[in-house]
Amino acid sequence: MAEIAKKQKKTLTAFPHKGTRTKVNTHAVSSPHQVLPDSTNAPFLSFAGTSKGKAPMHFADFSYDERKEKLKEKGYPAFRADQLSRHYFERHRIDEEELTDIPQAQRKDIIRSFFPPLLTKVRELVADKGKTIKSVWKLYDGHLIETVLMRYPKRTTLCISSQAGCGMACPFCATGQGGLQRNLSTAEIVEQVRLNMVMAENGALSGGPTRISNIVFMGMGEPLSNWLRVKNTLHRLIESPPNGFGLAARNITVSTVGMVPVIKKLKEEGFQVTLAVSLHAPDDELRDPLIPLNAKFKVDEVLDAAFDYYTGTKRRVSIEYALIKNMNDHEWRAELLAKKINERGRGWAHVNPIPLNPTPESVWTASTYEAQEKFVRILSDAGIATSLRDTRGSDIDGACGQLATEVKGGSPKARQARCAVDDFMETRRVQAEK
Ligand code: SF4
Repeated sequence: MAEIAKKQKKTLTAFPHKGTRTKVNTHAVSSPHQVLPDSTNAPFLSFAGTSKGKAPMHFADFSYDERKEKLKEKGYPAFRADQLSRHYFERHRIDEEELTDIPQAQRKDIIRSFFPPLLTKVRELVADKGKTIKSVWKLYDGHLIETVLMRYPKRTTLCISSQAGCGMACPFCATGQGGLQRNLSTAEIVEQVRLNMVMAENGALSGGPTRISNIVFMGMGEPLSNWLRVKNTLHRLIESPPNGFGLAARNITVSTVGMVPVIKKLKEEGFQVTLAVSLHAPDDELRDPLIPLNAKFKVDEVLDAAFDYYTGTKRRVSIEYALIKNMNDHEWRAELLAKKINERGRGWAHVNPIPLNPTPESVWTASTYEAQEKFVRILSDAGIATSLRDTRGSDIDGACGQLATEVKGGSPKARQARCAVDDFMETRRVQAEK
């Protein structure tokens, strides 16, 4: 127990909850938790903002029809909504000098009224020889969020945040340690996409200018607990210009730790996006302490909801499974996971075991290579599509949820959850010794 307690005193190390992680070559940073200085030269960024208020109203908060109404209310003709929507969603730019089809005299007022700056970049970290960029953005009230832009041979993926912080308090997740600051507005999520689109189109990633093809809701926050804004965002991402960006729904992934009733809503909305469920354990005994939400929605309920999503959308569900040494990487757990998936049907789920980088002196340690191999083999032999996840950007804490590695202490809920896991591990150890 003393050993566990000692470990507990250490700052919880970074961990990707639903995202990508592997050893990568980096420049600009020399260790996983070292960050570039920002303009204030502060060694750490504070995640606490100044309020829990609402973000200023923004053009991207509204549907196409609502935009027309809002412009009319301000005394502008409705067709300005079409012009502005095309600037925003087609060209991704809304600079005064580029609004050449809008009278000069109106531009300033339109920008001030409908396009307040919602995100200000405060840091940029580059990894994978320039193919991964993590950006830290300050919101209007001082809260911080992250995005991670990643170039792959055949796609460019952006990982976005849906909340400032997260209230789910998963004990292994850095983001969860600080608690929830607030939900992001629709426009705050959409702006993450637009601003990264501009970066990609301007050639920020090595390999030259490119377009973002894939979006994953795997940054800070539990997307389905900010459902209304995430739903609106999905409309903006998927609908064709001038309504939205016109991204392919099948290239968008929404992740969840298991908000069962909202998974149903996502299905009913009919978006055809990919659902990713962060399972991390196939049994309630372990998942209860690992994912506090499991107290409400048990493993079987979560898998039932995921299977129901598959039957309703015909979109194969991703099951995310972070492999943690001696915690959830046992062969019997791989077998149990395979059994639970297969008893619901064949071909409906794709399992992504996520190797965890070794983090010295933390209870959250990587599974051995052999354990990873065995885990994957057991699932594959059971006929389940399984791929060890390619994990980008971990050396810059670019994997999901890692930004908050800089949060110290943590919320009471998160501390309680960490204790629950420690208790669980201690019980297992004592049982093993008997
Ligand atoms: S739900 Fe929240 S606390 Fe849990 S892993 Fe995801 S971001 Fe972290």
